This record gives sequence, C-alpha cells and structure tokens, in this order.
Amino acid sequence: MRTHILGFPSIGKARELKRALESFWQGQSDAAALDAVRRDLEARHWGIQQAAGLDMVVCGDFSFYDRMLDTTLMLGALPARFAPCAEDAPLDRYFALARGHAGRNLPALEMTKWFDTNYHYLTPELEADTPWTPGAHPVLESVRRARALGFTPKAALIGPFTWLALGKARQGTDPWALLERILPVYAALLRQLAPLCPLIQVEEPVLCTELLPARAADLFKNAYAALNTAAPDKILLTTYFGPLTRHLPLALGSGCAALHLDLTRGPGQLEPVLAGLPENMTLSLGLVDGRNIWKTDYARAAAPLERVASALGPERVLLGSSCSLLHCPVDATDETALPPQVRDRLAFAVQKCTELSELKAVALGRGADLLAANAAVLRQWRAHPEAVLPAVRERAAAVTPDMLRRAAPAPERRAAQAAWLRLPLLPTTTIGSFPQTAAIRQTRRAWKRGEINPEAYEAAIRAEIAHCIRKQEELGLDVLVHGEAERNDMVEYFGQQLGGFCFTQNGWVQSYGSRCVKPPVIYGDIYRKAPMTVSWSTYAQSLTSKPMKGMLTGPVTILCWSFVRDDLPRDQVCRQIALALRDEVADLEAAGIRIIQIDEAALREGMPGNSADAAVYLQWAVDAFLLASCGAAPATQIHSHMCYSEFNAILPAIARMDADVISIESSRSGMELLDAFARYDYRNQVGPGVYDIHSPRVPDTEEIAGLLRLALRHIPKERLWGNPDCGLKTRRWEEAWPALQHMVAAARQVRAELG
Ligand code: GLN
Ligand code: ZN
Repeated sequence: MRTHILGFPSIGKARELKRALESFWQGQSDAAALDAVRRDLEARHWGIQQAAGLDMVVCGDFSFYDRMLDTTLMLGALPARFAPCAEDAPLDRYFALARGHAGRNLPALEMTKWFDTNYHYLTPELEADTPWTPGAHPVLESVRRARALGFTPKAALIGPFTWLALGKARQGTDPWALLERILPVYAALLRQLAPLCPLIQVEEPVLCTELLPARAADLFKNAYAALNTAAPDKILLTTYFGPLTRHLPLALGSGCAALHLDLTRGPGQLEPVLAGLPENMTLSLGLVDGRNIWKTDYARAAAPLERVASALGPERVLLGSSCSLLHCPVDATDETALPPQVRDRLAFAVQKCTELSELKAVALGRGADLLAANAAVLRQWRAHPEAVLPAVRERAAAVTPDMLRRAAPAPERRAAQAAWLRLPLLPTTTIGSFPQTAAIRQTRRAWKRGEINPEAYEAAIRAEIAHCIRKQEELGLDVLVHGEAERNDMVEYFGQQLGGFCFTQNGWVQSYGSRCVKPPVIYGDIYRKAPMTVSWSTYAQSLTSKPMKGMLTGPVTILCWSFVRDDLPRDQVCRQIALALRDEVADLEAAGIRIIQIDEAALREGMPGNSADAAVYLQWAVDAFLLASCGAAPATQIHSHMCYSEFNAILPAIARMDADVISIESSRSGMELLDAFARYDYRNQVGPGVYDIHSPRVPDTEEIAGLLRLALRHIPKERLWGNPDCGLKTRRWEEAWPALQHMVAAARQVRAELG
C-alpha cells in the first residue's frame, strides 16, 4: 500500500510565494530571485512529504500563478490577442496572460472558479485558427530536481479533457476538434516523464461532472490509449470533487495503470468501481479530505481501505488525499490561539501528510494506539459545549415557507421602490468596497493589536467613510456605499461577530495568483450576538442625501468561504447563518437603510459538479438566501452580487432568489452572459459589471459605453444598472478613480442617447 498526496499548497507556510511574486511584479526583484523561492518551497514541501513517510512526493503541483495556465503555455495555446507578447521573456508573457498587460492595453485571461472551490483558474481561450507553439511545462524540471535531491517524484498534470472542457471556445471553434492538436504535446511530455517517475498523475476531475459532451466522451478511449502508449503503466487517472457516475465506464476503460477516487465526496462509487475494475488497474483511495481542516476519522476511513486492500491485495492499493491539499492551509502546529476542542482537531496540509501514514498503519493492523488517540480527540470534539445550542436548533427547526417569500411580488416592489428612490435610467453604483489604502490597513492592524482604543478606531473608520462618500458624490454615482473600510474580508468580518466561529492565525489558502484568503472556522452553532453593520451604514447615510446601500455577505457565501464543521449537514449550518442575517436585515431597515445588498459571491462555486447533488444544493442554498432577505418590506430594495459568469446552469436558481437587483461579472466576457438572462426571460433588474476590477487596466469611457450599449441589446433600459464587476478593495485610488469617472460618464452618455 503506497501513500501519496495529490498536491501541496504552493504559497508557503509564511506566504513566501505571495511576497516573492508581488516584489517581482513591482520590479523589486528579478526572475532568478523568484525562481529561487520556487526551488526552496518545492524542496521544503517534498521534504515534508518524505518526512511524513509518504512513498512519493508530488511534482507539478507548484505554480507561479495557476496550473491551468501552466498547461496552456505548455500547449502553446496563446490566444491571438496576445501575439504582441509572443517575443517577451517567458515570465513576462506568463504574467501578461495572468494579469493583463497595461502598457499594451491587454486584458488578462478570464478567471473562473475551479469546480466547487474558491480557487480561480485562468480560462484557456480556444481558437482553432491560431497557430500554437508548444512550450515547456514546469513539471519536467521539478521532477528532475526532485530526483537530484533524492526524492521519488510523482508528476502531476491537468489532463487534456479537463483542460479542454474548462476552456472557453471562441465562436465557431469546436474545442474537441483541438484534441488532436494537444494530444501529441501531452504524449511528448509523458514520454519524458515516464522514465523518471513511478506514477504520473493525470487529473481529469471533469469526469465527475456534467461538463463532457457525448462527443468528448467518444474520444476518450482513443485519446487515453495514445497517452498510455507514451507512458505505459504509469498513468494514474485522477478524479476528484465528486463520485464517478456517468463517466465511470470511461475511467474503468481508460487503460490507465491506476485510478484515483475522491471517497470523501463520493463514498458510494466504491462498490461500482470495484465491481468493474480491470484486473491490472491499481486503485487510489482519496480518504484524507483535502478540502477541510479537520483530522480524519481513522475508524471511518480505515473501513473502505481495509475492504479494498483485502479485495485487491495491498500492493494494488494507493492511499491518498481526496484532492490536492491546495485547498487547505499549510501547517497547524502554530495555531495556538484556538479553543482547545478546535485546536486538537486541526489537520492542515502538513498534518494531513502524516495522517496518510498513520491511516495506512491503522489499515494494516499496526496502529491500535493511533486509532485510540484519534477516537479520543473525536469524542472530545462531539461533547464540546458550543456544539449544540438548543435555542439555535429550535429556531432553525421552526422556519416556515412564508419566511422564504417577500411580502409582495417583484413588480409591486419595483413600483414601491421607484417611488422613493427616483433613480435615473441606468443608475450607477459600486459593489461595496473602495480601495483599501495603506492607512486603512494600518488602522485595522492597530485596532486588532489593541494599539488604539475603540474611540480612535471608530473615528478613523468614520473619517474613511466620510472620504469615500465625498468621492462618490464627486463622481456622481447614484447609489452610494460606505466603502467597507472596516472589513478585512467579506466573510471574516461577519464571522468575527457571530457565535460559532473562530479564527486561525495563519490558515491562508490561495484564491488566485498571489491572493490568499484566511477562511473562518465554523465549529459550533451560529447566532448573532449584536447588530454587525448598522452603525457604519447609518453613519454613512447621515452624510449624504443619496441612498446608501447596506452591505451584507450572504449565508451561502459565508458557508462556502469558511471551513465548516463536519458534524452537522451543510444546509443546516447555512440555515443558522441565514437566520442571523435575517435579523441584521431587519435592524438595517429599522435604522433607515432601505437598499441592502446581500452578496452571494460563492453561490455558483458551491454547486457540486454532478447534477443530482447540484439540485439538492441549489434548493437549500437559495432557500437560505430567501430566509436571509425576505423579511425586508416591499419598498426595501434587495440587491445581490455574484462575481462570475457561469450562470447558464443556475438561472432558475438566480430567478428564485428574487433579488430586486443583481450585479454580476460580465466585462471580461463581453456581456455575452446577458444573453442567457434574456433568453431565460429574467424579470428583475440587472447590473452587469462594465469594467474588470481584477486588472489594473483602466477602461476608457467609450469602452464602457460600448459595453452598456451591448448590454442594452439583452436587458431593457428600465432594468439595467451600471457598476464595476466586483468590489474595488484590491485596486488603488489612482486606478479606481478614473475608471469610475469613465463609468459615470459612459452611463450619462448612453442615458442621453436613450433620450
Ligand atoms: N461587497 C464586496 C466588495 O465589494 C463584494 C466582494 C465580492 O463579491 N467578492 O468587496
Ligand atoms: Zn464580486
């Protein structure tokens, strides 16, 4: 029985990679310095795996920005619009694709959430008529370095079907026709890797989703025959984030040496897999959850392991993490400030490596003491006093269907809102946050460290709010926000004020590029201790006669962006959060805040890849949004915001949320997603993002006006808003200011054209 992980976080225990990248981007260090950081981190992470007793170390999991982008560059799939970067130094070209190129006015590749995680990958742009010049993949050099350092490397690659399925094909391009073009590039790399690695992990999580059309499925067998010819007996076909259902026959018939299953997400797939497993196929069981921070329940995980080991013989079994450990923080040893019942249950990436070795010992009957210690920790966890709060449980059980409905239907609400709002056509607003300056961060840091008293903190934040409101009035925006200077993070801010949450000191997880998030930890029943946003919002409103938009993070987003306890179903945890937010909505309204935005940035990402699980999820997720928002009176305008563009599959759910106004991402995709809204006959108001806040590039007025005109082809003028595609907190004022000026000017221009 061999042990392995599917990937280790690249970012580093002290976020070394983040710092190295940012210094490189600012021109403060060179490519050699950046590469030295990569080599250090990789070697350190291999060392951790080896020290934990794993049989292989994984290579090709490390990326300077994103593994999908690494694959794109290996394939040479540079979209034609990046032709001006073709002769740049490799790293410059790499980061131009990732972050856009301001000098050349090139927007970055689109970012999309990686399946149901909060990690964003860079979306390949598939163009059949652009010539591709394949390049190197960093995995090869990593494998060579690992060997030179005395490790046994397992190479890891994103597979061709996943890369193609996640790509965005330009009109007229059939992505699956490109398979022929990319297979030889994969084969060439596999041929080089095969002699260097006992196994090559080729990741095809797409097999656990509905993203493969029948046409692609037909191509699978031959494609994998070609790959297996290039690397005979080496390929570990790797699936995760769900069970193999519809595509199980493809996986079993792939001819690969081994198959990896995510048994944390799809335990039910094990029996069908065993029933159809070819004689010569090894099975890799993903039993240590790569998506959470909790210790594995050894007794529970050992059962399938023992079952498979006795069915196949231990030599045909691999024991692994369910998916890459990219999605959990690096090391729990320094987390000393948590409640003891939480601290004792933590397992981050480093600890999960050790768990694999321990679990192997348990399964082989050599770990009675490990098993007993594990059971003791779990017993203590279940008994802790905050685990069950009867008042919270009773309230959640008493939710009735009419609590999930607004008091009046949408058209009636629209009239009631228009009567007091009196907004122009194409009203302009922002998504909530304004640039988080060094001064703001400094204020929050000082507050957190107890260096300033509550009065000083409040005064400093109030000054920021006042500044932000002056700026918005100067810009001429129609619906204002307070700017979120008091928030470090849209989930953490609420988690800090809710019972049932706690916070790690160093639990950082990569979100995209150098950006990391530190998800709160939900460990107990959730309740609101006091109003969370009311004083900031009412202060902001007191400074302006323009309507002020209150700003809440939605229940699904708080859930998805937290590490969630594993002893209560997610829908129940989400309902507890929704009830807390419902109280906040009521308090905001009572305090005179009559536009309230409830961000559900994570609603789409939380949706499981397979359709049965997805339907169940959407039902309770939308119910939670409704529970949070529907207490609002008809004249109160509920906004929601979602920053992504994959709406087709969830439009019925979006419609069921019944937000009066929804702002969405769409500038990067040229408004095309609005077509789906129009076809679905979406009836409420829509604010398509008219500029991409993820890039430092400032769009000009004409460009934004053009997008608004495009949007008007799909959304009638009475229901269209103008806004950026997300909050501005990551931008500097120097970027946000001109961009918003252009946005307001563009709205005025198009308004004038409409007469
Ligand atoms: N209101 C939040 C902000 O503006 C929304 C952020 C998000 O959707 N990711 O920062
Ligand atoms: Zn957003």
